[in-house]
Amino acid sequence: MTSAHERIEAARKRYGSRLAILGHHYQNEAVIRHTDFQGDSLELARKIGGLEAEHVVFCGVYFMAESAVALARPGQKIHIPHADATCPMADMAPAQRVEDVLNELRSQGKLVIPLAYVNSSAEVKAICGLYGGSVCTSANAKVMLEWALQQGDAVLFLPDKHLGNNTANQLNIPQGERLQVSIRPGQPVVDMKKAAYARLLLWPGSCVIHHALKKQHLDDIRRAIPGVKIVVHPECSPAVVRAADSAGSTSHIIRYCAQAAPGAKIAIGTEVNLVLRLADKHKAEGKVIVPIKTMRCTNMAKTTEERLAELLDNLDAATPLSLPADVSEHAQVALTRMLDICS
Ligand code: SF4
Repeated sequence: MTSAHERIEAARKRYGSRLAILGHHYQNEAVIRHTDFQGDSLELARKIGGLEAEHVVFCGVYFMAESAVALARPGQKIHIPHADATCPMADMAPAQRVEDVLNELRSQGKLVIPLAYVNSSAEVKAICGLYGGSVCTSANAKVMLEWALQQGDAVLFLPDKHLGNNTANQLNIPQGERLQVSIRPGQPVVDMKKAAYARLLLWPGSCVIHHALKKQHLDDIRRAIPGVKIVVHPECSPAVVRAADSAGSTSHIIRYCAQAAPGAKIAIGTEVNLVLRLADKHKAEGKVIVPIKTMRCTNMAKTTEERLAELLDNLDAATPLSLPADVSEHAQVALTRMLDICS
């Protein structure tokens, strides 16, 4: 029987340059070895515009493939091996609720600019495009939040409260100027008196995987590995980010490991597939790289080698991902603003 690996290789030969496979760093090794490009959300978003391939297979979670659809050129077909690979954090910000909350915040005459982390649906990105806002990744959140603050009286940052707070800490935005909104239907969104002073309004979402990492885990690993350096992703809570030696996007974490001296001991707080890949990559330099805690994104794990093979077996017959024209148009506005600002 032909293995999934062989079927993928056969499809690659059949399609040649008509096919490009992109993979997020959190994908497992069996999938990532078949990709033409690996990267974080920003790096992969940037790739789309320059790809000649007719078929682009996006190994990641749903919102990433949606962004690819919004940025694709006419005729390009974007596919995702497992359409149920969603991001629970993106699901914490339903588009209709986002628009209702934004309108309520603006009803007092304040110009509130929406800024969505890329881990959000295309509909939410479209709202950002439509209301003069944009999107950001963990790699450019500081630049984009600064930009958004200059566009109006306040920013609604969503859906990740941890990334919002960590970025606000980098920009020295005082706690008194931050306010978490309530998104429960039937409840006031904010205390309007407090909202008058708030420059940063935070959606109460978070990544369940990164939120599960606690300061205690960092204390434990420092005791277990004397001299260890700790680097974490800014989707972790501010308490964890404060307790780490360094914090930043997946590309920052990759650079941190590459630039560490031979023999360095590094504990990482992010999805375990990336940590294991880095451990393997730097083993020969004598670097010891370990996860602080095994953090596995079950949605990222839904894309398996077998799923990828199944898609590629029948790629011409597969229905590519699509977005309603207005959603695609406005989401593209939001994404392009970010790419232009951070070019
Ligand atoms: Fe979403 Fe967290 Fe999984 Fe990333 S790791 S896809 S933010 S649930």
